[in-house]
Formats: sequence, structure tokens, C-alpha cells
Amino acid sequence: MYQSIHFNAKPRAVTNASKPEVLEKLQQIVGTENVLVEPEKVEPYGADAVKEKFPPEAVVFPESTAQMCEILKLANSEIFPVTARGGGVGYTGGAVPVDGGIVIGTDRMNKIIEINADDLYVICQPGLTTFALQQAVEKYG
Ligand SMILES: Cc1cc2nc3c(=O)[nH]c(=O)nc-3n(C[C@H](O)[C@H](O)[C@H](O)COP(=O)(O)OP(=O)(O)OC[C@H]3O[C@@H](n4cnc5c(N)ncnc54)[C@H](O)[C@@H]3O)c2cc1C
Repeated sequence: MYQSIHFNAKPRAVTNASKPEVLEKLQQIVGTENVLVEPEKVEPYGADAVKEKFPPEAVVFPESTAQMCEILKLANSEIFPVTARGGGVGYTGGAVPVDGGIVIGTDRMNKIIEINADDLYVICQPGLTTFALQQAVEKYG
């Protein structure tokens, strides 16, 4: 069985993010189906490639900058930790909610805004995978 040599995983934290009124506001911002709170559903979002487990209190999936702003305004007014997560394959714990709070998953923010082949740049949302990007720019040579 895997055992950490770095530090011990903690049980699920409880911060202001777990308050029912906070969870309700998060659901109002992104839709009920885009807020995960069940232990078995948030569990995969509690670790990065190192596999130390720190389950978040909720995982939230915004689809726009406006929703992202509303979530961060709520976190600032209610005071709870926020951790940004892309693919969750970092090795440094940056995507791991070690102090609890919510994880913001960028999975739904995966749109390409602009491909500029002349000046060699792409503007995209933060959840775009490199594979999808490679496919999208392939036709430009
Ligand atoms: C098997 C394996 C092979 C790898 N090979 C390479 C390699 O060849 N070259 C290389 O460079 N790296 C490599 N990596 C490292 C990995 O690709 C990087 O850590 C990558 O940056 C992780 O991206 P992510 O979107 O999964 O970010 P995450 O792991 O989700 O997060 C990484 C950090 O970025 C933050 N973050 C994530 N999304 C956002 C956002 N939208 N806004 C603000 N902050 C955000 C997180 O909070 C965290 O601090 C490898 C990793 C693995 C597991």
C-alpha cells in the first residue's frame, strides 16, 4: 500500500466553505450540477501527481470569467481557501487544498478564443488541454 514519505494526509477540513449558505451561493453561481460535495466525488480532487490526499470541501466548475469572479468575491467575503486546479498533474502541491476550502476546476473553461497564425499566439481559457490545442492549430502547419 502507498505510504507517503513527505507528510501525512489530513482528514477533510471544515472551513466557512462548508456552511450551507455558502454552498448554496456557489450552486447559484455555477449551477447545482457543477458543485461537487459528496466525499467520493471530491476525493479525486484532493491530490496531485504525488497522491497526498487532502479532500476539498467542495469542487466548483465555473464556465466563464464572470462566474470565476463571483466565486472569488464570495471566498473573500466569507473567508475560505480557494485552490485552482487544471489537470492536477503538478508535483509541488500547488493544486492540492491542504487547508481545505474549495477547489476550482477549470475543466469547463476549455474554449479557444483566438488563434493568430501570423503572430504565433493563441488566446484560450485556462482549462484547454494541450492535446486539444495541438489539434486546433494543426491545420496552420
Ligand atoms: C507524468 C508526468 C510527466 C510530466 N512531464 C512534464 C514535462 O515533460 N514537462 C513539464 O514542464 N512538466 C511536466 N509535468 C508537470 C506537469 O505537466 C505540470 O506540473 C503542469 O504545469 C501541470 O498542469 P495542470 O494544468 O495539471 O496544473 P495543476 O497540477 O492542476 O496545477 C499546477 C499549479 O497551477 C495552478 N493552477 C492550475 N490551473 C490554474 C489556473 N487556471 N489559474 C491559476 N493557477 C492555476 C495550481 O493551483 C497549481 O499551483 C509532468 C507531470 C507528470 C505527472
